[in-house]
Amino acid sequence: MVRRRIDAAHVIAYQDGGHRHLREGVVVTDGDTIVHVGTGFSGDVDETIDASGNVLTPGFVNTHAHLYESPLDKSFVEDMGRRQFYLSGLFEYLPARSAAMDEAAAHACLAYSMAELLRTGTTTALEIGSHGEEAVRQAERFGLRLYVGQGYRSGRWFTDDGRRVAYAWDEEAGERGLDAALRFIEAYDGRRNGRIKGFLAPSQVDTCTEALLRRSREAATSLGVPLTLHASQSVNEFQEMVRRHGQTPIEWLGTIGFLGPDVILGHAIVVAGGSWANFHGDDVGLLADTGTSVAHAVWVFARRGIAMESFGRYRERGVNMSLGTDTSPQSMIEALRWTAVAGKIVDRRTEVATAADVFEAATLGGARALGRDDLGRIAPGAKADLLIWEGESLFMTPLRDPVRNIVYSAQAEDLATVLIDGEVVMRDRVIPGVDVAALVRDVQAAAGRMWPRLGEGDWAGRGVDELSPQSFPPFVG
Ligand SMILES: [Zn+2]
Repeated sequence: MVRRRIDAAHVIAYQDGGHRHLREGVVVTDGDTIVHVGTGFSGDVDETIDASGNVLTPGFVNTHAHLYESPLDKSFVEDMGRRQFYLSGLFEYLPARSAAMDEAAAHACLAYSMAELLRTGTTTALEIGSHGEEAVRQAERFGLRLYVGQGYRSGRWFTDDGRRVAYAWDEEAGERGLDAALRFIEAYDGRRNGRIKGFLAPSQVDTCTEALLRRSREAATSLGVPLTLHASQSVNEFQEMVRRHGQTPIEWLGTIGFLGPDVILGHAIVVAGGSWANFHGDDVGLLADTGTSVAHAVWVFARRGIAMESFGRYRERGVNMSLGTDTSPQSMIEALRWTAVAGKIVDRRTEVATAADVFEAATLGGARALGRDDLGRIAPGAKADLLIWEGESLFMTPLRDPVRNIVYSAQAEDLATVLIDGEVVMRDRVIPGVDVAALVRDVQAAAGRMWPRLGEGDWAGRGVDELSPQSFPPFVG
């Protein structure tokens, strides 16, 4: 076990239930744990990291990701969102992409995503996916703290005319999926000093039967693992649930006893009481009253012109807010920034969705969602998941308030060093033993195989250039 001392000009340290700004701080880690936080330290250590002039913060907890596929959103889904589906890409773009991806593409995406996460500050991620074994293998290779949930559902949505969302059901497949997810947790939970954890991820509120959600709820309680579900993520889904049950998606989840402090809903954007649903009710209050957490992935909505109404109001009502990246780019730096900016625009107020608010969501909020009081904070007894940021760089200078500089100005290049469980998993932007250029080549090749096949999964057989035209027409010459 290495005993390590880090001296930093600015430390975002935890004290009396919240983050504090510690100047000229010393943090000492012993193995995987933080053992000292203060202004000095006289004990012996094996190694010292000199971060004088730099900023030391807790690592980010990214509560919503699909690492095996999200890189392939790039160059494809942006700027595309038809009014027929209320701007959502769920019904035309995701099915086409999923059908056109091959197994090697998912593996390439997983490896690439690990590098992308480390370069942008994620130290803990929740992977909601279908390639759990490879996700574990890559997380162990990169040293990431990864919660892995194997997705399952009783049905899938589709459109066969570009107008209507329909559902195809296979309830037994859902039950088998849950069985497989439980076996996965049994096999992998707790590996690598507890850095690999399992959770349950029934896919979407509109594609899971009540029986499957009730069984998932019971299993999560008996295993003590987190439970996630996509809910209130599109107007079509909201209206479908109202049609089926006479209740909003969140009301229905409350009725069947699904909600609770171990539940993380992605994305809870289209809610009663908000303008996207235009439906009377108080879904946000229900989330707060049941202690349910929200994984807010601002970018996947903001890039289509959709925003939560609002980050500040959910927080004010008492909802535990956490942040996720969901799509590409899988950058928590961007997630923090866009959450703050979109939150202000929606409320037409400057002093809401502050740097402190979004930083808290990305650290303590995520830890709370996972039921972990040893993550998202720099405090004795917490896991040594740490980020060292440049303090004297082009983007971080002038530096008075490190959190505001990280939220509003930092670039990925400002994140120099990352520790997870006390292990240096990135030093001076280099991930030891990883050839990033090879990861990039593999993802480019995967996309190169996918693009020509996109028409196969599209209801109208449209090719990539029809589904997603290039920004500019080709130069003729
Ligand atoms: Zn998602």
